[in-house]
Amino acid sequence: MKGRWIQSLSISELYLFCFALGKKVWNEGLTNETDKRVRKNNEVRKGYKHTEKAKRKMSESSSGEKSGTWKGGLSFKPYDSNFTTNFKKFIRERDNQICLLCNIHREKLKKALAVHHIDYNKQNTCKENCCVLCTGCNTKVNFNREEWTVFFHSLLNKRYGYIYGEVK
Ligand SMILES: [Zn+2]
Repeated sequence: MKGRWIQSLSISELYLFCFALGKKVWNEGLTNETDKRVRKNNEVRKGYKHTEKAKRKMSESSSGEKSGTWKGGLSFKPYDSNFTTNFKKFIRERDNQICLLCNIHREKLKKALAVHHIDYNKQNTCKENCCVLCTGCNTKVNFNREEWTVFFHSLLNKRYGYIYGEVK
């Protein structure tokens, strides 16, 4: 399975990997702005990439509740009822008020850290699926989602001993 090897990395190796991932995003951003053809290609690619998920999401949304919001995906779905102020407080304290990726502390950031859903499903609020990120890193993880999911699973497994199943 893709990304399986990540599980075997140590925490410092994991961070190297995460640095590389971030770089990848940074490069992509740069290319997007500087070359329109590349941007077009990327859009096509992204569209394609979303197809599988989109299909699932569409079948999800047509099965009940109001649809029409799927464009933009799960990120615009409301959070589930577990996502309370207390829960967020718990996650922020568990992670020591420090962004998991860049290690910036809440006090330095001067605002609350975002509570990130590791599998990008805001309806899946539990301690194993949530961690804190600063705003910058939270934006960063919107790209290469599968890799980030594996990364966070591996990191939280090493930190807190949480067990995760196979990533889809
Ligand atoms: Zn950060």
